[in-house]
Order: sequence, then structure tokens, then C-alpha cells
Amino acid sequence: MLETRPDASALLSQVFGFPGFRPGQEEIVGAVAAGHNVLAIMPTGGGKSLCFQLPALMRTGVTVVISPLIALMRDQVRGLRELGVEAGALTSGNTPEETDAVWQALDEGRLKLLYIAPERLASSGAERLLTRAGVSLIAVDEAHCVSQWGHDFRPDYLRIGALRRALGVPLAAFTATADAETRAEIVNRLFDGAPPETFLRGFDRPNLSLAFEVKNQPRQQILSYAAARKGQSGIVYCGTRAKTEALAAALREAGHSACHYHGGMEAQDRRHVEHRFATEDGLIVVATVAFGMGVDKPDIRWVAQADLPKSIEAYYQEIGRAGRDGAPADTLTLYGPDDIRFRRQQIDEGLAPPERKAADHARLNALLGLAEAITCRRQKLLGYFGEEAQPCGNCDLCTQAPETFDATTAVRKALSAILRTGEYFGTGHLIDILLGNPTDKVQARGHDRLPTFGVGTDFNRRGWQAVFRQMMGHDLVRPDPARHGALRMTEAARPILKGEAEITLRRDTIAKSASRRPAAR
Ligand code: ADP
Ligand code: ZN
Repeated sequence: MLETRPDASALLSQVFGFPGFRPGQEEIVGAVAAGHNVLAIMPTGGGKSLCFQLPALMRTGVTVVISPLIALMRDQVRGLRELGVEAGALTSGNTPEETDAVWQALDEGRLKLLYIAPERLASSGAERLLTRAGVSLIAVDEAHCVSQWGHDFRPDYLRIGALRRALGVPLAAFTATADAETRAEIVNRLFDGAPPETFLRGFDRPNLSLAFEVKNQPRQQILSYAAARKGQSGIVYCGTRAKTEALAAALREAGHSACHYHGGMEAQDRRHVEHRFATEDGLIVVATVAFGMGVDKPDIRWVAQADLPKSIEAYYQEIGRAGRDGAPADTLTLYGPDDIRFRRQQIDEGLAPPERKAADHARLNALLGLAEAITCRRQKLLGYFGEEAQPCGNCDLCTQAPETFDATTAVRKALSAILRTGEYFGTGHLIDILLGNPTDKVQARGHDRLPTFGVGTDFNRRGWQAVFRQMMGHDLVRPDPARHGALRMTEAARPILKGEAEITLRRDTIAKSASRRPAAR
């Protein structure tokens, strides 16, 4: 029998009305339509839905779509029907009539896409009915929900692997979560460990400029950033609720239109801010991470992070809210040693099992590596997501190459001060030792008799603070949660200490912070 497969590009324009594919879509559509098992990692907003909706039209039979968000499923079904595509959903939100209509369309072989809420898979008979229904493809949206260590774990997702085996059809899994650990779990649980064809595309957002600054006068830094973008819609993300309120007030005082937003506010107040942000021009929302899911404003011109986010994924998601319309947009991230301590402590004091904590430290490390980078930030960011890139020309490091220096000796002096004092002290005391300051504490502990006492006069206090911060950023030392932030050496520092490795640090952040206080003469 001759089977003609409808042409993907033709369907793209005729059914969906799009002139062309977005980056990555065409390859994924091709593989899914050809019946390969597929894992596609695409950023939010990259156009994942099309990658299973279009193949569903190209294949005979029905495509089952599993998605965790009922509202999203209903939106997609409505959208598809408006395009003239036979689609239906089985969710807990259905009326009995809706459910009957879906089953009838399925029985008559009319349905092309059937959306199912994961908990539906648990009901007895679901699998039997699907076996009869002529399913030709399973599409799994938000596939990271199968990961037990993830924040969005959905136990019902664990049934999907069995469904795939029972139906014997190809499966296409989609997610925006890129870390290797989650990916491996998806492959294990959805594909029984047999590696699917994997696509990873479209994480680059070339219209976003990337910049990091060391916090020295945080409020002033945000105020000047906003002042340079007066009248443009922007978001400032803060680590605490109190800070959102204080910073919003400061911005209003400086003549901006600004309001705060956090999870502690009444739902109606939050909706009010969301509505204002969506409809007004030039409003600044100062928010905690709670401001995100509902933000769908295409022309956000800038995002500033007044505090360091908890991971590289969180960083990417927050800055990614800017410039959805593709026009240039700016992002800035402030960070300092207190942020690093705060984020480490958050992980250490959390209730997660040890493996999870180690993974969270690694995600934080990835972000700190980006903060302390000495070459193109975008290259580094995309590298983390598995994409290769050329230096971008649109980040602070591309526009002004940082001055660096061989910091091997300085780092060894600092490590030696840490080790000779039993990994029991924080940066303040360690710097006193390095500078040779005979403070009461130094004398009381006899630390003025250490060989490290006074060996570090080539930097001033600010300079050493910048060295310690960069050492924390490179995860050479970590604050010890059990000892009020006393610094401990990590294994990563051992080769430097033993003279087997060298390290390059940035001079400009040292010089910049040092210039705030004239060096003692
Ligand atoms: P996500 O990847 O977050 O699931 P969606 O699938 O909802 O993203 O797609 C995001 C938006 O991009 C939607 O409004 C969709 O209509 C649009 N879109 C998807 N593919 C294309 C395309 N090839 N051309 C133009 N717009 C597209
Ligand atoms: Zn760059």
C-alpha cells in the first residue's frame, strides 16, 4: 500500500499559519514523525508543542499527549480546534459530556491528539482503552516531572514507561530542564535506559545582553541601572520579600513607576500587579521568584537580579523573561560573598537527601563559575546547556575584556592561612593574618606567630576579600555551615596547594573594589 506522508513545511503554514520553523523544530519534527524515540530539550517558549502537534498530523492514528498542567492542556486543545484539528482532553476538569464526546471521537477514529492528565493513567482501564484506540505516538510534555529529585516530581509520570511498553509505540519527551542528571533519569524511566534520539537546541537568546557586577553598593547599583533605562518595563529580582518592598520604594523615590511582588501578598494584590505590568508601559516590578509563571509580557526590556539566584537554571529562567519579542534587552546580576554563603547555607540546611544537596551545590557552582568567568559569558552559559557557541559580543566580558592575573601564589597563601588555623575562621580574621594585623583576636590565638602572618601585604583588605570571593566562586573553599561560615578547603583546591595547578583570577573586580577605599600608605 502506498502511503503518502503530508509534508511538514506545508502543514506548518497551512494548518498553523507559521512562515517557517524556529531553531531546532524542523529536525525534531522530522525525527518524531519518522517514529523515532526522541528526547528534546528546548527552553521555555521555544515552541515545543509544535514538535509533537505537527507530527501528530503527519502520522496515522492518534497521538497521546501527557502533560501535568490541566489549564495548559485545555488551552492547547482549544487552540488546535480553532485551527481545525481534531483534539480532545481527558482531565479531571471535564464535564461528563466532554468526556463522552472525546471517547466517541476516539472510537470513530477522528481524533488526532488526545491530551491526558497523568493521574488518568492510574485509572483502571485507561491502558486497555488506549490499546484499542489506535495510538501511534506518545508525547510527554514537561518530561522532567518523572525525576524524583526534581522539584516538579509527579508520581503518576512513573506509569508512562509501562504505557509505552504496553502500546509498543514511539515516545517523544520534551523538557526545558537540561542538567545531565535529570536527562539520565528521563532516559531510564521513560525509555527503559535505551538512549532516544536527543535534541538540544535553541537555548541561545542573542538579543539579551548579559552582565554581572560585584555587589558593593547594591541599592545604588540597581538605581543607576534602572535610571539608564527609565520608562522601560523591567523586573528586579530580590532574594527576600522585605527587600522587594524597600527597593520598590527606593525606585519610586527616584521617580520610577515601580511596585513590589512576593508570595506573602494577598492573591488579589498579586493579580493587580500582574495586570498593571501586562498593561502599563514602563512599570518596574521588584519581585521574589514568585513572580514568574504568569509573566507573559513580550516587551520586558531589562531584568536585574539584585541577589544571586540559586542555580544556573534559575538564572537563565529569570533573565529569559526579558526580550521575548526578540528586540534587544539587558540583564544584570549582582553577587557577592554573602550571596554565596546564603545560597550554600540554604542548600546545606534544606531537607534534601545528600545526593540532591550535592547536585544543588553543583548547580550553584555552575552559576558562580559564570559570575567569575573571564571569557564570554554566553559561551559559558550555553556550554552548560550543552550548546557550542562563538564569543557573543553582547556580554560585559566580550565588550570589555577583564584584566586577569596569575593568582596561584595569592590563593596558596590564603589556603595556607585557612589550614594553619584549623579551618575554623571566616574571611575577616584570615585577612587580618595575611595582612599582619595584630588584632586582639589574632594575638589571643597566637596567630601572629604563624608563618603566614603578614605574608599578604601585596593586597589590601578589599583586594583579599575579592580573592576570597573568587575562591568561593571557583569552589576552592566553602563556608562550613556547622561553624558559622568558617572557610574550609575543598578537594578542588588541593592541586593548587600542592603546586600541581595554577589559577587565574580577575584583577578588575579586585581593583574596582579596592578603589573604594584608598590603600593605606
Ligand atoms: P513551549 O516551548 O514553552 O511549550 P510553545 O510551544 O507554547 O512553547 O510555543 C511558544 C510560542 O511560540 C507559541 O505562541 C507558539 O504559537 C509560537 N510558535 C511555535 N512555533 C513557532 C514557529 N515555527 N513560528 C512562529 N511561532 C511559533
Ligand atoms: Zn560574550
